[in-house]
Amino acid sequence: MISKTHVSQDIVLDQLKAEFDRLNDTYFEGRLKEPAVEFSTRKTFGGYYQKKSHRIVLSWQAYLEHGWDETVNTFRHEVAHIIHLNHRREFWQLAYKIGVTKKYAAPPLSRKRRPAPVLIYACPVCGGRIHRRRRIKNSSCARCDTKYNPRYRLYLVREERPL
Ligand SMILES: [Zn+2]
Ligand SMILES: [Zn+2]
Repeated sequence: MISKTHVSQDIVLDQLKAEFDRLNDTYFEGRLKEPAVEFSTRKTFGGYYQKKSHRIVLSWQAYLEHGWDETVNTFRHEVAHIIHLNHRREFWQLAYKIGVTKKYAAPPLSRKRRPAPVLIYACPVCGGRIHRRRRIKNSSCARCDTKYNPRYRLYLVREERPL
């Protein structure tokens, strides 16, 4: 979904304006005053309606990660807040009537975790090297002695971070 970044906010805002007009005509007899609608690029999710400025703010990141369905669901939720500011029963009745299908905003996708570094250890005597994902403490070279022997205690040569 991240490849959608080329979609400009203006296109989506136009679609939301059309959706507002549709909702207004279908459910409110055209009596709702059109709110200002904008996207926030802060990495917060969901959206909110600000009564004082009659403004709906939606998460651009949520659109990029979850697409139009997520955004329009949140938008309808915020439109219902124009009538009912809190989340009482009347709010949800109206929200579902105008097409809200999900009660909660989708969570952000988990960040891609960077791969763990590879740790390279070496034996001080034979110079043999081993690669490990986890840090090792008291380990000695298995080639030089089958049991733990501090003489062949492995030392950390370096860490490499795979790209
Ligand atoms: Zn709400
Ligand atoms: Zn060794």
